[in-house]
This record gives sequence, C-alpha cells and structure tokens, in this order.
Amino acid sequence: MSTLRSDRTELDIAVVGGSIAGMATAIRFSKMGYRVAVFDKKKMASQPHKQLCTHFIQPHAVPLLNELGLAHLRGTDCSVSAKAVFVTPGGLIEGPGGYLPDVPDSFALNLERRVLDPAMREAAQECGVHYHDATSVERIEEDEQGWHLHTTSEAGEQSIHARLVVAADGRQSRLAKLLGSEATLYPNERACLFGYFSGIETPQGKPSTFIMHERDLACTYSLVEGRTLLVLFADKARIESWRGTDERMRHFLEYFDALPQGPSTTAAVPLSKLMGYGDYPSQVRQPVVGSVPFVGDAALSLDPMSGVGCGFALSSADLLARSFADRALDKAGIAQGLAEYQQRFCDTILPHVEGICADSLVERNEAFRLKMFQAISADPDLSRKYLAITGRMLLPSEFHADLMRALTRQALSARKAGATSDVAASRPNPPSTALADREVGSF
Ligand SMILES: Cc1cc2nc3c(=O)[nH]c(=O)nc-3n(C[C@H](O)[C@H](O)[C@H](O)COP(=O)(O)OP(=O)(O)OC[C@H]3O[C@@H](n4cnc5c(N)ncnc54)[C@H](O)[C@@H]3O)c2cc1C
Repeated sequence: MSTLRSDRTELDIAVVGGSIAGMATAIRFSKMGYRVAVFDKKKMASQPHKQLCTHFIQPHAVPLLNELGLAHLRGTDCSVSAKAVFVTPGGLIEGPGGYLPDVPDSFALNLERRVLDPAMREAAQECGVHYHDATSVERIEEDEQGWHLHTTSEAGEQSIHARLVVAADGRQSRLAKLLGSEATLYPNERACLFGYFSGIETPQGKPSTFIMHERDLACTYSLVEGRTLLVLFADKARIESWRGTDERMRHFLEYFDALPQGPSTTAAVPLSKLMGYGDYPSQVRQPVVGSVPFVGDAALSLDPMSGVGCGFALSSADLLARSFADRALDKAGIAQGLAEYQQRFCDTILPHVEGICADSLVERNEAFRLKMFQAISADPDLSRKYLAITGRMLLPSEFHADLMRALTRQALSARKAGATSDVAASRPNPPSTALADREVGSF
C-alpha cells in the first residue's frame, strides 16, 4: 500500500526529467547556488542511458559541456571530434578545418549516450543536486510560494514543494498535458534505421559524412574504439519493404555499400540490432506555460535527421540558467526570468524550426536543389556558412541572404552568356526567401 508523505523542505528548483535537458538545467542552477532536485521516472540501474539517439552533438553546443564540468568528455577516450562532409547532388560541401575555420575548435562531437548520461548524473551529484530516479511526477499544484509536486515511487507517494518547476520531461511531456499546453505538429516523411558496427574503415580525419541519395540521407559517424555508427533516414516505403531482422540488416548494409562515396560495408560486423522509428513528427510547444519553463524535447522535438535535439537540450538549459542569473526566486524575479528565457528561446532556437521541418518533406523541386547545391559547393564562403547553419552556429536568415545573392548572380551570368538556366527560366526575378526556406531546409 502506498504512503503519502509531505516533505516541507523548500526546494528552489524541482526539475522534472533527468535526461540531457534536465541534468544540464539542474547542474547550471546548482552551480548558481540554488537548492535543486531532479525527478525521473526511469530506474537508472536498469535504464542507465537513452538508447534511441544517435548522439551527434552539433558544434554550437559542444562548448556548453565545459559549463557543466564535462569538458573531459571531449577527450579522445570518450568521444570523437568531427567535422561534417556533405555529399550533395551539386557536389561536396566541406570546410578546410572544423565547421568554421575562424572559430577554433568548432567541431561536432560523436558522444555516445552510454558515456554522456551517466557522466551528467555524476557531475550533478558532485555539485549537490538531489537526484531521485524511479520517481514519477504525477501532478503539480501552484500556490502563492511556488509549486507542490506529487510524486510516486517504490517508497510511495510524496508531496514536495519548490519555488520553480522546470519541465524537462521529454517529447511526451506530462507537465505539458497537465498544464494544457498543446504541441504544434509538423509531418516527417522519413523513417529511420541505425546500428553500431566494427570492421568499417574510418576515413582520414574521422569526419561525419552525410550522403544525400535520392530522397534519403545516409550518415556515417566514427566512434571511439574503432566502431562506426551508420544511420539512414529514408523514404518510409523503402524501410517498410525491408522485412525480417536478418533481411533488414542485409538490405541496410547493401544500401550503404552501394552509395556513391559511401563506406564499404563488406567487412562490417554488427555490434547491435538495428534500431529506429517509423514515424517521428516534429513538435513545438511554448517554451513557457504559465510560470513553468520547458527545456529540451519538452519544448521542441524536431526531426532527428537534423541532429539538433541534444544540442538544443543543452542550449535551452543554458538559456534558462542565464535568464535567472542573479535573480531572486520571488514572484517578480521568476516572472522576469521567464520572460527573458522566452525571448532568448524565440531569438536563438525557434528560427531553426522552419528549415528543419521543410527538410522532413521528401517532395522537393529537384532542379532548384541542384542549382542551390552547385552554388554552395562552388563557393568556399557559402560552403562555410552552410556548414555553420547545419551546426546551428548561424541563424538561417544569415545564410539565406547570401544564398539568394549567389543564385541571382548564377542566373544573371547564365543569361548574359545567352544560356537559359532552369532557375532563370522558371524565376525571372531572384527567388523569394520564402521559396528558399522551403527548398533549402537545413541540409
Ligand atoms: C532515433 C533518434 C536519433 C537521434 N539522434 C540525435 C542526434 O544524433 N543528435 C541530437 O542532438 N539529437 C538526436 N536525437 C534527439 C535527442 O535524443 C533528444 O532531443 C534528447 O534526448 C532530448 O533530451 P531531453 O532531456 O529533452 O528529453 P528526454 O531524453 O526524452 O528525457 C526526458 C526524461 O523525462 C523523464 N520523464 C518523463 N515524464 C516524467 C515524469 N512524469 N516524471 C519524472 N520523469 C519523467 C523520462 O524518463 C526521461 O528520462 C535523436 C532522437 C531519435 C529518436
């Protein structure tokens, strides 16, 4: 029989959800001197890390590990620092160094969740965060001084009081449901399959390679200990037609082997079963609902093909912590902190949503895409900006203006030469930014 205990110990911050966004939030607030506890419904002894994640951390978020006391995870024994190489219909896109040659250390990180998740919990505990696993938050109630959280665990039911509650409870956010916050959904027309392998030759410099093939994106990531992660985002019909565990693995490896500039998989040895999903629509919620801030997937959970979820989990936690720096946790302080967080979130994270959601659709204007990738691939400055936008180091608008100029130049010189390009023929005026947003997406 369950028991009901009321813990009158006053918490400053109660974080619901103890994965990337929750732990990053807890560490940051704890370092600012607040009394913080995290509640996660999972039992960590049996589920120590998230499995359904291909753990490519975009370069904008890598420096945030330092703020969490996790700089050591950037070492070669824990992760692989990687630049990105894109094989597009219009040619290769790659930079000479990292993502931005003028920004030192601008690399993405292949940092497996089996390493990251326990390290975050350890760092949180070291800086005084109280961590309660196997504890589900069932209800929350607001009063004059903050919130009562009603939890259930093996020990029974409990009521805890905190001045601020942070929703870091993921894509299916229970807090969003309790607070009546609906997500806006965007379709994702690709399914995903991924697996871990040995026996795949690592390319020089261990870049992460993204091959655009037909309507699909095939990704190759080098991992520590000579392992390789292969990830395929493909037309749902293609993946659905690969039936049966062994047949699916065979088709998957053959697909990579046949790719132009893909890795050879003839000596590949599977180290895991294939994992993935059939349907994973993007979803976006308000970053603040009433007086509850939402971070990570609870706020927005986008097509995993964009590889932004872990990075946005880290950066939303960072934005929230910075919005509360030097604030009192009284009514006025909380209201100001939440308003600042909402603004920062809208300015830095939301501008990426439109392009990512456009990428999730498979029907594209192929002639325009070809011209666009030819223009990007041929121009080192545009290539650099394209890489920066995929690494979320630049806002899409900063890239689109330059792309429009390059396409206009391309169309004008084709006209001058007396030729009629597809772009020039179909668009006598420079293409609109709205069209570009739809066609460019983020890849
Ligand atoms: C196939 C796939 C591949 C991906 N690959 C990448 C990638 O390469 N790069 C990248 O950046 N992102 C990737 N992502 C996305 C990334 O995994 C997520 O964005 C990230 O894990 C979100 O972290 P989070 O902390 O916000 O949420 P979650 O990891 O979902 O954590 C939410 C936590 O809240 C807990 N919880 C929920 N409800 C309650 C409750 N009522 N009480 C207590 N606890 C609760 C859950 O147990 C869970 O631990 C991928 C996703 C998928 C599906």
